[in-house]
Amino acid sequence: MKYVSTRGNAEPVDFVSASLTGLAPDGGLFSPVTFPQIERPDATATYIETATSILAAFAGSSLPEQAIREMAVRAYAPFAHQSVAPLTEVGPGRWMLELHHGPTLAFKDVAMRLIAQLYDHILGQRGERMTILCATSGDTGGAAASAFAGSKHVDIVILHPLDRISPTQRLFMTATGADNVHNFALEGDFDGTQAILKLLLADDQFRRRTRLAAVNSINWVRVAAQSVYFAQAQAQLGHDRNIRFVVPTGNFGDALAGYVASRCGLLKSLDIVSAVNANDAMARLLAGMPLTKGETAATLSPAMDIQLPSNFERLLFEAAGRDGAAVASVYASLAAKGEAPLPKAAATSLDAMGLSAERVSDHQTIDEMKRAYAETGWIVCPHTAVGLAAARRSRHVDGPVVTLATAHAAKFPETVKRALGIDLGLPDRASEFTSRPEKFDTGPMSADFVRQRVDSIVAKAD
Ligand SMILES: *Cc1c(COP(=O)(O)O)cnc(C)c1O
Repeated sequence: MKYVSTRGNAEPVDFVSASLTGLAPDGGLFSPVTFPQIERPDATATYIETATSILAAFAGSSLPEQAIREMAVRAYAPFAHQSVAPLTEVGPGRWMLELHHGPTLAFKDVAMRLIAQLYDHILGQRGERMTILCATSGDTGGAAASAFAGSKHVDIVILHPLDRISPTQRLFMTATGADNVHNFALEGDFDGTQAILKLLLADDQFRRRTRLAAVNSINWVRVAAQSVYFAQAQAQLGHDRNIRFVVPTGNFGDALAGYVASRCGLLKSLDIVSAVNANDAMARLLAGMPLTKGETAATLSPAMDIQLPSNFERLLFEAAGRDGAAVASVYASLAAKGEAPLPKAAATSLDAMGLSAERVSDHQTIDEMKRAYAETGWIVCPHTAVGLAAARRSRHVDGPVVTLATAHAAKFPETVKRALGIDLGLPDRASEFTSRPEKFDTGPMSADFVRQRVDSIVAKAD
């Protein structure tokens, strides 16, 4: 299975190379040259079985299936729930897909732990070391720090926007106690950290010198690993049901994974609602409006405070009929002018894809947290509440509505307190994090600052 760049100007690579680089050399994102048709799992398939068969299809001949199975077993062993991503009913016909049973209490663990296994496997075989750069809106950093902590083959450098993430989110990335995890809090917003990441990855000399890779939501392995729980949910609810998935959306990685599952034949139909907060870029883009570099607003669902959803580029590639030059020109004019209209054909085809978006305000988020608690006794995280509020609003008569529960409420105790008046502590399984000191440096939102720091980290490791 080969992977091509969404900007059409890079050599196709195999699954392992796509995973190890993250960003294509022409600045695009890797996408499979065709979507493999994957057999739907049956209702009794375990999460490991489904993950193995889906990842094997994406890996093609670049990894043996047995190695993939072993990685999946190791990746999911520390999960607090045997099903990894269990489905629970929240009301008649309404379900929640619980993705927060991993060590850092958010769905990012699901894909990140698999990536860490993959990197260790490949770098171990090659006897190589790499530097992983990661920009986080709150939860990716924790998942990456925890998944790679103590790895002999990587240094991981995590950039987060200073004071724009919750103290508990920060704890998971800064209190790993591992020498190979390095944290920087930069003065600015998440889109700024993501721009630095892209800039440094596109800097050929620097990338080679530091053996740099990215495990952000643009990394294909994450998308592939996240498509597994969509397939599992379809199998468990029945292959004859038209499921609507409601996905709390920031960088559009999770929702894209649902789209990919559908393209691979794993879903009966494609009906995905991106639930967004005041940062409603996906709602505008799906309506065919231009791509813009808007200001991000700080909301109660900080992991979704994103105005430039990086994975939209993959969807645009599909909507534009896989015309890499057209995608490249959209992103070139975005870089030059701060705004880029979508090609007309792409805008029309986006409209017909089965994807939609719902906006949910902070006020509605708090209301939904109250309502979910009153109706089920469950305390849901603000991101999940954005999804549940969108699900409640979207009338679906044709089958079940499944909302992705993207984080554990204990990661957002301030918001839980505000909505419900309850003091929610971390679950016991997270107590290792509170027992260690936090370790991070602060700095300006500057690529040069990060470049210097990465160089000195690599110099020390060599
Ligand atoms: C990352 C994250 C999201 C957004 O997911 P994307 O794949 O970036 O769209 C939603 N909720 C939580 C809790 C997250 O950590």
